[in-house]
Amino acid sequence: MKIITQTGREELAIVYLAELESGDAIEFVESLQPPFAREKKWVLIVSTLIGCPANCPICDAGGFYKGRISKNDIFAQIDYLIDKRFPSRRVNVDKFKIQFARMGEPAFNPAVIDVLCELQSRYHAPGLMPCISTVAPVKTGAFFKRLMEVNHCIYRGRFQLQFSIHTTDDRLRDRFIPINKWDLKTIGQYGERFFVAGGRKIALNFALEKNAPVNADILREYFDPEIFLIKITPINPTYRAVENQMLSYVEPDRPERYRTLVDSLQRAGYEVILSIGELDENHIGSNCGQLVSNHMRQKQALAGAYSQAKT
Ligand code: SF4
Repeated sequence: MKIITQTGREELAIVYLAELESGDAIEFVESLQPPFAREKKWVLIVSTLIGCPANCPICDAGGFYKGRISKNDIFAQIDYLIDKRFPSRRVNVDKFKIQFARMGEPAFNPAVIDVLCELQSRYHAPGLMPCISTVAPVKTGAFFKRLMEVNHCIYRGRFQLQFSIHTTDDRLRDRFIPINKWDLKTIGQYGERFFVAGGRKIALNFALEKNAPVNADILREYFDPEIFLIKITPINPTYRAVENQMLSYVEPDRPERYRTLVDSLQRAGYEVILSIGELDENHIGSNCGQLVSNHMRQKQALAGAYSQAKT
């Protein structure tokens, strides 16, 4: 793996664009959460697919798909960041999160489970907490079966599982996640078996679109607040979100817009996390798939200019 470029700010987030031996471009990220120092919290976000076949309209990773990233190349992303910051591979960070949540739906890649199995022994990292963020595609039962074993046998609850739900309206959910996926009942049932008492709750992620309802009564039907929590995020201004006119309901400077929703979810018994992020992250292009997407657009533009120059 060869690093082509990087963008971002040392004290916030850096996105790396890398080229695999195949010539395909991937991206991965390291981020901090100001005001915390790296030794307190450090988050790595790695890619698991080259693009993504799910093609969600809010995500730049979904505009193309060229295959899975191998176990070695997933590790190459993690190794690069750890060797850069902690060359001894002793990662003394209180909260060291590795998220398999950059380019690609992780359930489409069985190598993610192989990485999870080896992760703990590869580095000395007492604060390690892996995180999978998924839209729960159908026909990935083998992945989720192994994931449950990994949680129960290796991480024992020190694992963060997140399901991207986005809305409780089935029709809109099909628009936001345009693949066959588990319904809310199946996600709820899996979550109950996955959960380890005393371990991390399972997050239900909502990247809130302006017209997408979130109904607390529907959530209560399937999701026990003792096992699930709600995470609300804005829709980031990716190229595809803008093209698809996906307008964010959550705006950092307009808390009154989502206060009512947060109140209703809390009244229903849920812990609610508002993950607004730093506005600067939009400016450094640290939203999923943006750097690779940019890189590909530039390459296409160059190829177009080149072929025009030849005619
Ligand atoms: S949001 Fe996730 S599942 Fe959807 S296209 Fe992006 S990477 Fe794939």
